[in-house]
Amino acid sequence: MDAKDEPLMDDAAAPPSTSTLDVVILGGGLAGLTLALQLKKRRPATTITILEKKRHPVSEAAHKVGESSVEIGAHYFTDVLGELEHFEQCQLPKLGLRYFFGDGDPSDLASRTELGGNVFLPSRSWQIDRGRFENHLARRCQERGITFIDAATVRSLELAPRGGEHRVTYASAGATQAIGARWVVDASGRAGLIKRKRSLAKEVGHKANAVWWRYDRRIAIDDWSQDPGWAAQGNNQRSRWLSTVHLMGKGYWVWFIPLASGSHSVGIVADETVHPFSTISSYDKALAWLRVHEPQAAGVCEGRDEQLQDFLGLKDYSYSSTQVYSEERWACTGEAGAFLDPFYSPGSDFIAMGNTFITDLIERDLRDESISTRTAFYNTIYFTFFDNHLSLYEGQMPLFDNAKVMALKIIWDFAYYWTVPAAFFFHGRQTDLMAFARAKEGLDRSGLLNRRVQRLFRDWHAVDPRIAKTFIDIPALTFMYDLNRGLKDALDEPQFMARLAANLQLLTVLAGEIAMLARDDLPAASVDGLTEGDRDGQFRLLSNLVGQLRAKPVIAGAGAPGSA
Ligand SMILES: Cc1cc2nc3c(=O)[nH]c(=O)nc-3n(C[C@H](O)[C@H](O)[C@H](O)COP(=O)(O)OP(=O)(O)OC[C@H]3O[C@@H](n4cnc5c(N)ncnc54)[C@H](O)[C@@H]3O)c2cc1C
Repeated sequence: MDAKDEPLMDDAAAPPSTSTLDVVILGGGLAGLTLALQLKKRRPATTITILEKKRHPVSEAAHKVGESSVEIGAHYFTDVLGELEHFEQCQLPKLGLRYFFGDGDPSDLASRTELGGNVFLPSRSWQIDRGRFENHLARRCQERGITFIDAATVRSLELAPRGGEHRVTYASAGATQAIGARWVVDASGRAGLIKRKRSLAKEVGHKANAVWWRYDRRIAIDDWSQDPGWAAQGNNQRSRWLSTVHLMGKGYWVWFIPLASGSHSVGIVADETVHPFSTISSYDKALAWLRVHEPQAAGVCEGRDEQLQDFLGLKDYSYSSTQVYSEERWACTGEAGAFLDPFYSPGSDFIAMGNTFITDLIERDLRDESISTRTAFYNTIYFTFFDNHLSLYEGQMPLFDNAKVMALKIIWDFAYYWTVPAAFFFHGRQTDLMAFARAKEGLDRSGLLNRRVQRLFRDWHAVDPRIAKTFIDIPALTFMYDLNRGLKDALDEPQFMARLAANLQLLTVLAGEIAMLARDDLPAASVDGLTEGDRDGQFRLLSNLVGQLRAKPVIAGAGAPGSA
């Protein structure tokens, strides 16, 4: 039986507490281990115990899902926690996100429109072997004086109302023990111990499923085509395998992620209404499904049964919560709070942002500061980021095969991500209430703009616009490269506010340029409210791409390119 199915024990049956701590963390996965390290770094005197159900060391590769990082999570691990050396020596650098759309022949990667890059962006990201990383983090916790108890299952939890001591009972080495703590942080992942205890679960209107598995060998994506044009498109560097590779189709995407331990992770993520879970729910079914939708990938996976390390899946993986921080000194982090969607790999981002809020609350509380205003505010900010993120996914999976709409959507989504949440995080403003207050008007406007642009993508996809097969090089778009690079700048408060205002204005211009392109396929009324940034009909940000995005596909027997 999994922890999430286990009833929490009756508190009255628990033995008396044997110690009193500042913080007890329930679950020593990615969220719990990193939170402990962040707390200890910020306030070395903090006494912390982590209770983790699994025995350590855990296995490499076939451990947990969540192997691709993007900028916020990566920056959190390497710079905020100071683990750059581990990443440089023990993990793989990630050559960005790479997408192959559904416009070509699914048996030939070289025939599909590709979006990605062939240079590493200045704000780096990594492919994470989760087992290897969690083993490292657990060792690091022990080195830093954090008590890490593995093979310890939390059995009951008593949350004290105000001022009192929380009590946690756990089973370890055949005995039941209890500890008391001023703070309890739930990092138990999908077991969601506090969420269940306090009935905080909230549904999300995004229904999708995933299955994933690992092979104990590397998959050489760069060998999938011998076409010299395709190799040249990859700068002849044969390094596409270092990207998180997405094969995109109607209502689904398939991932290929390399792991430093030498294994390769493969996954299918699909909209339940287009590809029901029952069609992918076993390894044999997943291969049969690949044969139909992604035959080239199926060909690569077939015959590897001996190399298979695991096969796992999750039905309806998205969920939320009504609260993640409480002034009664409890908090939820990582998947114990909410989880949205893996498409842009934001799991580690939400851990980074959540842990940063929790660290701030605990630090302030331990120096006797009132935390009630901040607790309310951090809940609001967390769920605002969550809801804005949700708009990127809701009803968007059917678009996934469309090269034209998806290329612009990915550009927009990353520009928005680097401008708003990533900027607040990188520039150390995430707990700066004044910065949020000053920026409120611009942030509200950009939130509305984002929703409007996402609606445009859905409307646009409905008319099925097509482009000639092309390569869309993200780092070659100057404004995208600059937005990413700018995350690394050290900015004081006035500089941050000026940068934020300029980038929010840039988003308005970008929305206007996307709207100009959409007008090629949609009536002008469909872009109402988006053309504020379009002063003179000129493309400034997307000028290098306009030709590619307007080139029509060659239709067999219809004449020369461009005449279709
Ligand atoms: C299909 C899919 C793909 C994903 N891809 C990505 C990605 O590419 N990048 C990314 O950043 N994120 C990704 N994620 C999200 C990522 O997996 C999560 O964000 C991350 O694993 C959450 O970490 P966590 O520490 O909250 O939970 P977990 O890693 O699940 O840790 C929870 C820990 O609590 C322990 N535990 C549970 N119950 C108890 C108990 N009663 N007592 C003691 N311990 C307990 C467990 O043993 C576990 O170690 C993906 C998610 C899905 C579903």
